[in-house]
Amino acid sequence: MGCGAVARGTSGASRWYRRVAPVRARIGPVRVRIGIPDYHGPMDARSDAPSVSDPPTADFDGRPGMPDRFGRALRDLRISVTDRCNFRCPYCMPAEIFGRDFAFLPKEQVLSFEEISRLAALFVGLGVTKLRITGGEPLVRRDLPVLIGDLAALRAPGGEPVDLTLTTNGSALKPLAGPLAAAGLQRITVSLDSLDDAVFGPMNGVDFPVSRVLEGIDAARAAGLSPIKVNTVVRRGMNEASVLPLARWAREEGLILRFIEYMDVGHSNGWRLDDVVPAEEILGLIDASMPLEPVGANYRGEVAGRYAYRDGSGEVGVIASVTRPFCGDCTRARLSAEGHLYTCLFAVAGTDLKTPIRAGESDAQLADRIRAVWTVRADRYSELRSAATDKLPKVEMFALGG
Ligand code: SAM
Repeated sequence: MGCGAVARGTSGASRWYRRVAPVRARIGPVRVRIGIPDYHGPMDARSDAPSVSDPPTADFDGRPGMPDRFGRALRDLRISVTDRCNFRCPYCMPAEIFGRDFAFLPKEQVLSFEEISRLAALFVGLGVTKLRITGGEPLVRRDLPVLIGDLAALRAPGGEPVDLTLTTNGSALKPLAGPLAAAGLQRITVSLDSLDDAVFGPMNGVDFPVSRVLEGIDAARAAGLSPIKVNTVVRRGMNEASVLPLARWAREEGLILRFIEYMDVGHSNGWRLDDVVPAEEILGLIDASMPLEPVGANYRGEVAGRYAYRDGSGEVGVIASVTRPFCGDCTRARLSAEGHLYTCLFAVAGTDLKTPIRAGESDAQLADRIRAVWTVRADRYSELRSAATDKLPKVEMFALGG
């Protein structure tokens, strides 16, 4: 594309970033008035993405669905199977807060496979077409292939299979890729923030070696999981130098790499706007040595902005929740490990589905509860993100399902 094309697609975002970042840096810690948020209004949604302030439509993506207040259909359910993780990434679960004494959920508070499958079936009946297993680290949940087998058997009301995938840190993928694929997992996303152990060690918080994640990716490929995507969070001062080596490696390996802007998820990671490396900068770095051109979304609601290498050798994506909010197209709900339903990654509260399911409610009653939550949904956190919102007591990402 030459840098011009990248700059064209993100001009609003970069204008905002240039305007706000220096101000934020100057004003330092921001006083937060929870309940009277100091929103500065819709910031700068991607120019090609609709905003939630567009009028609602029942026909979100040409398929029957259940619209929320802004006409967004429920399509995507992320299921957290555990709040535990064997990594301590400082941007997600910092070791100094989530140490040995931290009280993760007791086993009996975590949804059983039967409960997860039953709720997932109800969501599919309400229009969900994609299920993503996540956590915490989903591969630390014992017997996970059993759950994958149950979910792979689900069918949409029209008889189609669901798109079933999983996001993992890859640490336990080598032994599990085969059993997961055999159980019906179709594709996978592996998180990897650098190919350099000196960078990756501090970013995973436990000095986990890059080579073991690469072995997991090899095992996923051997098991036939496809496509394999790689998620990389980019954090200022930590791994910008890893962007280009990762992009080169992923292109050679035929992997779909997606760079994620560092987000203000949860309330423990000490997020500062200054630590965000904007998508535009990431794309510029890659484009300078491997020219890119923007390509359209695969479907409405896809979070990654996609860019193809001009030489036809693959694609790379950016998930730019901070500089290019995509709330207007957000079709995602999240089911936490303890059975709470969240309708935004930046939520401060969810709706308990575990208590009613354990109290013996029928499928119809549970479906009504889900419907009641989704149809009044009005979340658009990333469009409202401001000085006041980043310190809200948001639920941690590992708890509600990343
Ligand atoms: N443990 C699994 C993994 O590492 O992929 C799944 C859960 S993790 C919370 C899901 C994804 O969220 C990972 O790709 C992780 O890098 C990303 N993530 C976590 N905290 C983030 C943050 N503050 N900003 C952006 N992405 C984040």
